[in-house]
Formats: sequence, C-alpha cells, structure tokens
Amino acid sequence: MRPTRLDRLFADATTLPGIGPKLVKVLAEFTGDKLIDLLFHLPSNLIDRQYRPSLSEVEDGRIATFEVEVMKHEVPPNQGRRRNLPYRILCGNETGYLSLVFFRARGDWLGKAMPEGAKRMVSGRVERFREQLQIVHPDHMLPQAEFDKLPIVEPVYPLTAGLSAKVLMKAIQVALPELPALPEWQEAEWVKQQGWADWQGAVQAVHRPENMAALDPQNAARARLAYDELLAHQLVLALVRRDRKKQQGRSYKTADEMQNRLLGLLPFPLTGSQENAIADIRADMAEPMRMLRLLQGDVGSGKTVVAVMAMLQAVANGAQAALMAPTEILARQHAETLGPWLDELGINWQVMTARNKGKLRQESLDALAAGDVKIAIGTHALFQDDVAFKDLGLAVVDEQHRFGVQQRMALSNKGNNDEGGGVDVLVMTATPIPRTLTLTAYGDMDVSRMPDKPPGRKPVDTRVISMDRYEEVAQSLGNAIKDGARVYWVCPLVSESELVDLAAAEDRAKALHAVYGDTVGIVHGQMKPAEKDAVMARFASGEISILVATTVIEVGVNVPEATVMVIEHAERFGLAQLHQLRGRVGRGLDKSSCVLLYRGPLGETAKARLSIMRETEDGFKIAEEDLRLRGAGEVLGTRQSGLPAFRLADLETHADLLPAVHDDVKLLLERDPLLKSPRGEALRVLLYLFRRDEAIRFLQSG
Ligand code: ADP
Ligand code: MG
Repeated sequence: MRPTRLDRLFADATTLPGIGPKLVKVLAEFTGDKLIDLLFHLPSNLIDRQYRPSLSEVEDGRIATFEVEVMKHEVPPNQGRRRNLPYRILCGNETGYLSLVFFRARGDWLGKAMPEGAKRMVSGRVERFREQLQIVHPDHMLPQAEFDKLPIVEPVYPLTAGLSAKVLMKAIQVALPELPALPEWQEAEWVKQQGWADWQGAVQAVHRPENMAALDPQNAARARLAYDELLAHQLVLALVRRDRKKQQGRSYKTADEMQNRLLGLLPFPLTGSQENAIADIRADMAEPMRMLRLLQGDVGSGKTVVAVMAMLQAVANGAQAALMAPTEILARQHAETLGPWLDELGINWQVMTARNKGKLRQESLDALAAGDVKIAIGTHALFQDDVAFKDLGLAVVDEQHRFGVQQRMALSNKGNNDEGGGVDVLVMTATPIPRTLTLTAYGDMDVSRMPDKPPGRKPVDTRVISMDRYEEVAQSLGNAIKDGARVYWVCPLVSESELVDLAAAEDRAKALHAVYGDTVGIVHGQMKPAEKDAVMARFASGEISILVATTVIEVGVNVPEATVMVIEHAERFGLAQLHQLRGRVGRGLDKSSCVLLYRGPLGETAKARLSIMRETEDGFKIAEEDLRLRGAGEVLGTRQSGLPAFRLADLETHADLLPAVHDDVKLLLERDPLLKSPRGEALRVLLYLFRRDEAIRFLQSG
C-alpha cells in the first residue's frame, strides 16, 4: 500500500487549476497525468523578470516588467473581416507610454482583464515600432497582488502541442507548496557532505531557478534528484537480483563428456576468455538457483561456442535449450554453424522463425512440446505465446542490445518444466559497454566479460577519408575485387525516413553498378527476409562482390571472404556501431581494410572519435573512449541498451554518481536486508515515489 503521505503527489493533475479533462489527456502522453509527473518535469530554460526599468530608459528587445495604468483600448475596425489589424491597449505611467498589441484578440476578454483606469503589472518583450514602445502579446497583465505570486525568475518548461507555458507553470507553482516533507532516504552524512537539500527543498529549488546556473544538471538540487532516481533504480535491480538468487532453479550436473566431444570437433583450442566464461556458466548451472548471466564479448570473440557449451550442459541433463537471435539471417547462420556439430553429437535440433508457417510450424510446435527437439534455434518467434517447450532449461539470447529488460524477464518466464525450477538465461552482447555503466544497464545480471579474441586475427587497416575523395575510393575497389575480395559498402540511416535513406543507398548502388556492373548488390530493411537472405547468400558465394547495405546489415553475419568495409558518413555513427561494422571484416585469412568516409567539416570531438577507430580495435577500449568523449547518454542510447529512460538523471552528466549509488545500495542491503530500519522505511517511500513499488514485494517473504 502506498503511504498516505504520498496521496497528494499521486492525485490527478486535474485537481490543479487550469487543467481540465482535455489537457490532462495531453499531459498523460507527455509528462504523465499525476502531480508528481508535473513535478518531475524539469525546466529547461528561464525568463528573468527582474528587469524593471522606467519606460523612458528601457532597452529594446529585452524582457521587461512595468507597472502601468490602462488608458485606452483601440479596437480595430471591421474586426470580422480585417483580422490582421491588431487590437491595441494604450498604457502609461509617469515615465512614458506603452502599447500592448494583440493580433486576433478577443476584445471582450481584454475589456474585462484590462479595464480602463486600472493599474496593472505588465511583462513581456519590449520593442519599438514607429518610435513607440510596445509589447506584442504580453506574457503577463495582472494586478500587483496576483503578479507578486509569480516567481520573479520564471522557469520555462519543455512543451508539447496543446500545452501552454503559462498553464503548465501555473499548475506547477500551485503544486509546489503542497509538496509533503518526506523522510530522508539518502544517507544523512552523504547528503551533508554533498551540500544537498532534502527532497522537498530540492524539488522546490529546481522549479524556482534563480539564474542559469540552476539549470545545470550538476547543480545541487538537480544532482540530488538524479541521485534519488538512480538510487531507486539500482535498489530495484539489486532486489530483483537477490530475489532471483533465491528462486529455485535446476541444478545441472556438469556435462564433461558431451562438452569434450564438442571441443574435439572444433578446429581450434578455446581462448582463455572462452574458458573462463564457460567455467562461470558451468558453476551457475550447477547451482540450484536460476542463472541470469550476461556474456559480454566483442564481435568475433567467439561467444557462439560458449553458448553451445552451455546448451550442451542443459541437454546432457535431459532439458531443452533455446538460442534466440534478433534476426532471421542470424538465426539461420547460427543454425549453419551449430547444425553440423549438433548432428555429430546426435542432438536433435531445429530452426524456428517467423518463416515457419502452417503445417511446418505446427510440426515444429509439436516436436518442441513433445520434447523430441532438444535445441531450438530461432528468432522472437520462439517466444510467442503458443510456443510450448516440454522442458526448457536454458534460454540463450544473442545480441542482447536489441532486447529490453522487459523482454529478458518475459523470456525467463517461459520455463514450464515439471521440476518447478525457472529457466536459466544467458544473454550475449557484442556491445562493449564500459565497466562503469554495466551495473546501471545490467545490475540484475551477473556478468562475464571476454576481453581476448581468438589468435591469428589480422589487424584491420583503418583509414579516415573525406568524401571529397569518393572517386578515388570507389576506383580502388576494382583492384580488390579483381583478386576475389568482397566489399561491404554501408550507407547510414541519416534522415527520419527510411525511404529517404533507402534512396541514398540505392543511388550509391547505382553509381557503383555503373562502374562494376552486376557484381554490385544491395540489401536493406525494406526487403523481405527471403530476399535479404538470397542477396546475402550471393554475397557469401561470391556471385556479388560489392554489397551496398543500409545499417540493417546484420550485426553478426559472417562472410570470411569479406575484406573491405566502406562506411559512408562515418561521422554519424556511434563508435560502438562502427566497431561492430568493422568487425564484419578481418575474419578470414587475407588482410582487411576499413574506410571511414566522412563529410566535413568535422568538429573536434568527431575528429577525435574517428581517430580512435584508427588507433585501436579493442571494443572495450573504444567504448571507454567514446564514453569519455560523448558521455553516457549517447553511448547507451536508451533504445539500444534497454536502459530505462530516466526523468531526473541524465546519464551523460550524472554518470559520476553511479559508483556512489552502487556502493550505497550494496552496503544498505547488507546492513538492512529487509529495509526495516528508519532509512529502510524511507527507501520504501522512495520506491513508491518512482513507481517502482513492485519491488517491495521482494521484501515480504524475507
Ligand atoms: P561472436 O562473439 O562475434 O559471436 P563467433 O562466435 O561468431 O563470434 O566467432 C567468430 C569466429 O571465430 C567464428 O568463425 C568462430 O568459429 C571462430 N572462433 C571462435 N572461437 C575461436 C577460438 N578459440 N580460436 C579460433 N577461432 C575461434
Ligand atoms: Mg555472435
């Protein structure tokens, strides 16, 4: 039950003046429709109304405030037809005159609000028109007493269609005095050391900025609120994680025999990283609790083998395993790699994607439900509602960054095995997230990192070249393909419209086709999966030598003969993405190269970023540098990472708070595991405040 002291904060915004049923719908979409949602909507700018000059000395163009008397209304003639003539109200005081100008005015309303002879406070941007001072559509025209209730420095909020600045500000200003005082959930010592106000004081401060410095995310009030939000988020992840550790899972005996047989089939020894990861997983699976582990390894670090080893452990214990890839092509490619190994080991497997339809699909479903198929390889299709496994023991999710937290939870609920244990989950990602952010993104998971790569990989010769030299680059492909090389040419998503981007890629393909003929192919997101596969197959077989691709180019696709990667508009890509794309080449025996084509002029940061690509191929290092240069918000675009969208915290500027938050939560749960202490009680309030109270149920059982 939500503490009653929060009731007012969770009241409908319609209880605030000026917010009716229509506006609340707009708010619901934009900020949320409770008081708390408005209070968590932070100003992005401000208007300073401290400037109160005399009418004789005011500077043009500034926002100024005057006390004036209303002298005369000049109603435009022919209101109905000639609406472009403004309505004017002439005002003045002992220092001069001022015209208030209104286009498309409602005269009746103005007549009431500004009766002749009345004193009014008037505020807005002043301009001079034919030697006369005027304000077009003043921001405020109020009696002194009313005006005094407004903040002198006015916050300016991000707005959306249908929501006016005035209404929003007024509602928030009315809500502010109603803020309850809440118990302190941060550690008192820490708050003091940071020089932060309490929660109530901080919320009031952010909505009453006194100067531009107050808008800085590093400002004390904003930093405090950011800490609160991160604290709530991390606390939930920690509680979820602790709960999972208590959940029963199955204890899988080690499967040395079957695993060794697989190792015997591989033409290479495992890397140290692979061995470590396999050992982590083996230990997790042997424990009688559920595994939720993230396997973080650069492109080409050999995650697939690790996944297979894990699946074998489940299968050797009589359970089923599933491997889920984000795309059709990747699923099929996994099947091509793993299929022969699994056949050799005598394990029944099957591919399941959206393309399995009708009778074929039904047969697959039956085989999974009967338990005849031990390993299923597929896409999201594997986790549709009508898919039932007889006894799913392990789910492996490849290329995690395309799935969100929600999805990985849904996935781990798919287990309906008779033993009553939950499904073990192994998530694999090639996005090398910097260490400092891993916990924020994946605090609910255990992490294995794979820093080293299989030996014998040739470094990729990376060049950063201006688009001015396009002809030269295009010409140079001739020599490469003469010797049998394959070339990827990637055109980025630039515009909001996929069709526009597609047109750019098609133009590029046409231009290259004019030189190289039918050896040029194109693959893009608008194509049907079967068409894409067909093109990829022709590229893999060498029928096509130059493949123009939009960014849909599948992240994990493996064509060892591909030795040249050209990336157009490289400056528009994230480094992680460039790194992944570059990982498509350098997989075979021949020397590979990567050309980063940019369109200048480049800013300092853009230059620095591209030159990192030239300097290193270490994905983790690239991620750390990218973080340093661009900040966390960019590196972990929320869409990519599955990170929750924060409202008060901005990972770009508040990343430095994260280590403190992590330590705080860790220590806290050691000292007060059930949140029973006074601080623990306060933290429960915090969870309600950020609507993360689902996590409170994890505190009940003990
Ligand atoms: P990713 O981590 O990107 O999924 P893959 O599992 O696809 O990487 O492996 C990339 C390539 O490296 C594959 O061709 C695979 O067979 C090969 N490979 C994997 N492990 C090793 C190893 N220990 N030694 C040599 N090659 C390896
Ligand atoms: Mg892979």
